[in-house]
Parts: sequence; structure tokens; C-alpha cells
Amino acid sequence: MDSHAIISAARIRFVLVGTQHPGNIGAAARALKTMGLTRLVLVQPEKFPHEEACRRAAGADDLLAQAVVAPDVATAVADCRLVLGCTARSRRVALEEHSPRQAAARLAQAAGAGPVALLFGRERTGLTNEELQLCHAAVHIDANPDYSSLNLAAAVQVLAYETRLALQDAAAPVEDPAEPRPAPATHAQLEGFFAQLAQTLEQIDFHKGRAPESAMRKLRRLYLRTDLDEKEVRLLRGILADCQRMARLAQPEG
Ligand code: SAH
Repeated sequence: MDSHAIISAARIRFVLVGTQHPGNIGAAARALKTMGLTRLVLVQPEKFPHEEACRRAAGADDLLAQAVVAPDVATAVADCRLVLGCTARSRRVALEEHSPRQAAARLAQAAGAGPVALLFGRERTGLTNEELQLCHAAVHIDANPDYSSLNLAAAVQVLAYETRLALQDAAAPVEDPAEPRPAPATHAQLEGFFAQLAQTLEQIDFHKGRAPESAMRKLRRLYLRTDLDEKEVRLLRGILADCQRMARLAQPEG
């Protein structure tokens, strides 16, 4: 990898969510290290640190030692400008779906601008729908439709390998100093926007008694698909703030 690829590699977080078997954490660390990747994040691991994790890491214990443990997915990816979630079950969620190759290309490209994350679910149950909702898109490794669930560390290996190839392909971004491109919005900025959007829709009585979840799911999908940058999020939030102000003015006195 050239120096640009090494800098980008250090910005790609592999986030294991709720991992049940410590051996899988070790095997995932090994999978990452073989591909020149270094950032392992663990969200509520059931058993960590654990000797089984060290044993299966087989020399990648430096990655285990540096692994960041986070209390939830939102915290683990708050500063990330792209979040993708790996799911063994295809097309179950209302999310755009990528192959590992497409996902890796997107991660390698976005890592040029800042941290990015790839989520992996629990061995028994995968990622929850709520966790997948936090993602820009889902990633599915094409597999035998009757037996499509890979071992967690095996799934990490497939994505780590594709990520390595994509990093080698991704050219260093050419910045026009006259017109620097605004950075894509972070996860936390997008969630701030979604929270204000949900609040505004309530205030303008958009739902008319219907449950708000379905509209919010569709709106999340729409906005997450468009790769909003920081300036665009500020513009949209400005519009919402005016809607909220008008809604307050329109309220009957008393
Ligand atoms: N029984 C779980 C499978 C969990 S496997 C389920 O049905 O969801 C553990 C994790 O490995 C998954 O959450 C996913 O992140 C990853 N994984 C396994 N197989 C995969 C596949 N075919 N495509 C993408 N990710 C996969």
C-alpha cells in the first residue's frame, strides 16, 4: 500500500457489535491484520478481554490491545462519514444493498475525507433493525441462499480483503485548493438532523394520527442515500428551524 492507502486504512473501523464468542474477536483481529487494517472496535462484547480471543488472534494481539470498546453503535460511529452494515439476510431491510466490492470501494473513497465504519452483527441474531437503520447502506456477501450465514470472522475476512484491494485502487483525491469540497456529514450530524426532522414533522402535524416510524424510515433512507455534506445538513436544518418557528406562530394562543 502507498502512503495515501495507509492513511486511509487507518480511518476504516471494523465494528463488531455484541460479539458472543471471544474466539471470533481474535480471529477477526487476525483477518484484519493480514490485510493491513488496524482499527477494531467492539460494541458491548459479551466476553472481552478473554484468553480465547488472544489465542485465536495468533500474533495479531496488538490489534486486540488497541481495540476500542464502545457502549453502543451510535457512540462507536459518531464521527464517521460513512457507516455500512453487514447482514447475512439479503433484502430484509429497506436499505440500499452493496456487494463487498462496492462497499469496499465506497469505504476506501470516503476514508480519504475522514473516519468510516463497517458494522458486523451478533453470531446468533446479526444486527438489530435499529442498528441497521443507522447505516447508509447494507452489505451482503452473496452466498448459498439456503445457507447464507458466514462465520463472523470469515465475513470480516471477505470484507477486509476487498477493502485492501480497493485501497490499492483508490487514487489520492485531487483537491482543487480554490474550491475545497465540503466534508460529508458525520453520523452525529446526520442523527441531529433526523431528530430535528422528526420533531418538526410532529409540530406541523404531518402524521395526522399515523405512527411516525414508517415515514421516518423512508425519509432516513432518502437522505442517507444522497451523501449529504456538512453544509447541506446545515441548510436543511435551517429550513426546519424556520418551519418550527412558523408552526409555533400558527399555534392558537393560550
Ligand atoms: N444468524 C445471524 C447471522 C449472524 S453471522 C443472522 O441471521 O443475521 C454474524 C455476522 O456476520 C452478521 O451479523 C453479519 O454482519 C456477518 N455476516 C455473516 N454472513 C454474512 C453474509 N452472507 N453477508 C454479509 N454479512 C454476513
